Amino acid sequence: MKTYLATTNPGKRRELKALFAKSAVQIVTPRKIVELEVVESATTYAGNALLKAEALAAALRERHVAAAVLADDSGLEVVALDGRPGIYSARYGGPEMDWPERRAALLHELRGVPPYRRAARFVCALALVEPHGKPIVATGEVQGYVLEAERGTGGFGYDAVFLYPRLGRSFAALSEKEKNAVSHRYNAAQALLTILRERGAQAGLL
Ligand code: IMP
Repeated sequence: MKTYLATTNPGKRRELKALFAKSAVQIVTPRKIVELEVVESATTYAGNALLKAEALAAALRERHVAAAVLADDSGLEVVALDGRPGIYSARYGGPEMDWPERRAALLHELRGVPPYRRAARFVCALALVEPHGKPIVATGEVQGYVLEAERGTGGFGYDAVFLYPRLGRSFAALSEKEKNAVSHRYNAAQALLTILRERGAQAGLL
């Protein structure tokens, strides 16, 4: 199934391409990406992922492109912040901040917060909208802690402040392959592929 990505975030694009390589979801990368300003007005990751996927699907229909669309909505939830920034992760600290500033603002807000309250999770919802058929939404998460200072130089977004305890390193210190084997996005991708396989098996039975 030829699939367009409804995200211009280069970090997400890179990871999604790797996560769906060799799967039934064949991600295509047209030279010109359709960029849409989608207002993320839903109150859940799943709702926002669907909004993004449906918006690009409509734009592709208008252009007579027959393809599926995959969208990602994700965020970081911190225990000490009662789950913030959550669905507002991309805008935490204000829209004018760059990523080093946004990470610094989070570390500042958590200054003096003890380790057990720094527990956090990344959550990812993936929505797949096909030209025909019902949309599919799958979610995944990964547990960790917010560090007291940045570690590592890879990744994107909050990766440098997120400690993945099982490996004792931040997401930004993992190779892409290592992150893609354990991340919230990986877990959501696996859940989505399971739904697709089950749907395929059911269709075979009919
Ligand atoms: P949105 O999905 O476009 O609303 O943005 C979610 C924000 O959460 C991204 O801009 C990132 O800052 C953050 N985020 C989501 N997934 C990751 C990840 O894998 N690593 C680091 N930050 C992430």
